[in-house]
Amino acid sequence: MPTKYIVILGSLMSGLGKGVVTASILKMLDFYNYNALPIKFDGYLNYDCGTMNPYRHGEVFVLDDKGEVDMDFGIYERFLNKSMTCDLSITGGKLFGGIINKERKGEFLGVDVQIIPHLTNEAINRIKDVEKNKKPDVIVIEVGGTVGDIENSYFIEAVRQLAIKENAIFINLTYTPKLDVVGEQKTKPAQLGFRLLLQAGIRPSFVISRSKDLLKDTTIEKLALFSNITKDKVIDDSDLYSMYMLPIHFIEQEFDKKLITELKLEPREINQDKLNNWKEKIKIIEKPEKQVTIGVVGKYTDLKDAYASINESFVHAGILNNAKVNIKWIEATEIEENGVSVLENLNGVLVPGGFGKRGIEGMIHAIKYSRENKVPYLGICLGMQLMAVEYARSVCSLSDANSIEFNKNTKSPIITLMESQKNIYNLGGTMRLGEWKCVLKDNTITFNSYKSKNISERHRHRYEFNNEYRSLLEEKGLVIAGTTEDNGLVEFIEWKDQFGVGTQAHPELKSRLEIPAPLFGSFVKASLEFSESKNKN
Ligand code: GLN
Repeated sequence: MPTKYIVILGSLMSGLGKGVVTASILKMLDFYNYNALPIKFDGYLNYDCGTMNPYRHGEVFVLDDKGEVDMDFGIYERFLNKSMTCDLSITGGKLFGGIINKERKGEFLGVDVQIIPHLTNEAINRIKDVEKNKKPDVIVIEVGGTVGDIENSYFIEAVRQLAIKENAIFINLTYTPKLDVVGEQKTKPAQLGFRLLLQAGIRPSFVISRSKDLLKDTTIEKLALFSNITKDKVIDDSDLYSMYMLPIHFIEQEFDKKLITELKLEPREINQDKLNNWKEKIKIIEKPEKQVTIGVVGKYTDLKDAYASINESFVHAGILNNAKVNIKWIEATEIEENGVSVLENLNGVLVPGGFGKRGIEGMIHAIKYSRENKVPYLGICLGMQLMAVEYARSVCSLSDANSIEFNKNTKSPIITLMESQKNIYNLGGTMRLGEWKCVLKDNTITFNSYKSKNISERHRHRYEFNNEYRSLLEEKGLVIAGTTEDNGLVEFIEWKDQFGVGTQAHPELKSRLEIPAPLFGSFVKASLEFSESKNKN
């Protein structure tokens, strides 16, 4: 059967959860064992997400193949249990870059190079390449931004053209606000959005509407009427207690069956085991038996999207431990100003990845506090580097110890640049990126968490543990729990006799609802045990 296409377009405003809708549609199709893949278009002119500001754009998600992509790929992977590839991420930067390269090579000699047809064809060719190379049953294209933006206008034109030849349907994600004063759901904004879609030559087959409360029947009628569809094609996407609930909420509206019919996919039975497994997990999110509070000491803590994968890893690890993990977001600079009292009463501390000097000393204080008070600690990337720095300062009497990222002139450069990183001038896409294999040492917390000697995790960093300090720190009790296969780079370090693990990798990037990251699982378990032992005393 030829590949079918679903194109998801948002109207009115961003932040409606288009990524979750896309992932939920992918998951519904996965429940039927259709091979469904996403493509995400982002209109910005950065080649990839790697050079963008996480404060504005949310976290940079990294794939096995080194792709630095939009955080929506994290949602797709967490829902689908599948590793994505960077060809599924199409950006304005990649399209313009591709066209300009071709022009310079002389592929358009004597031709005016234009948005239509050259740029639109470049977009269509990239989509068709995914179809050719991966041969999925369905490709779900999520178009970033909203209809009416200049940034995505040529891409929307490209998918309109694609739909002339291919078996494609459009879905409009819109929003229905409720005015508290009159208590009425208002459809006028959605109507204006439909008009923009029609102007772009697109008629949606389904309309999904975000709203606070369930859509009322009269609201559904209006939404259907103005978007030229029947009532059964309007799908409710009202607030749920967990985003992982959305595929189930869709299935309750028989969106699965309607979608399969509309796409003319070969009919199949839903895989009940897959569906039930998903429902089981969600039940635990709804009614966990225990709870635990973990402090995340970072830099962008008022924008949760900057740490989306960490947040989700705690949801997954919570399910594994039948617990709700409450996260207390702590600005590291606050510890610098007011001391470590904010850490009291926490059951665990995590220092996440990060770049730049701000807040570093606050993070080091938090690590020292955790080590001295035996609070379970997990250090991720920067959090591992600072765990090594703190150990060198406090236990090995190297008071000047630092990473050369923060002090180029330190006498004790515990964290340094690898040779291969010293002569890099292009900063885009040149960090240690993507999947790296690692060998773990027996009888360590890390080994016992993964239950395997050979593992692999994703990376995104420039600096490394300095091997010149390896034997000194080991002599003083730091455990080197994992290294690259050639033993050249330190990947995991641990404290002895208490739960403290630092990893140069980003295990949060591979955590999925149905397959939680092992290290987060054991960290939450240790935090629960720590909380219970404190309650006993
Ligand atoms: N800034 C550090 C480095 O580049 C850590 C990066 C990270 O935490 N992802 O090595």
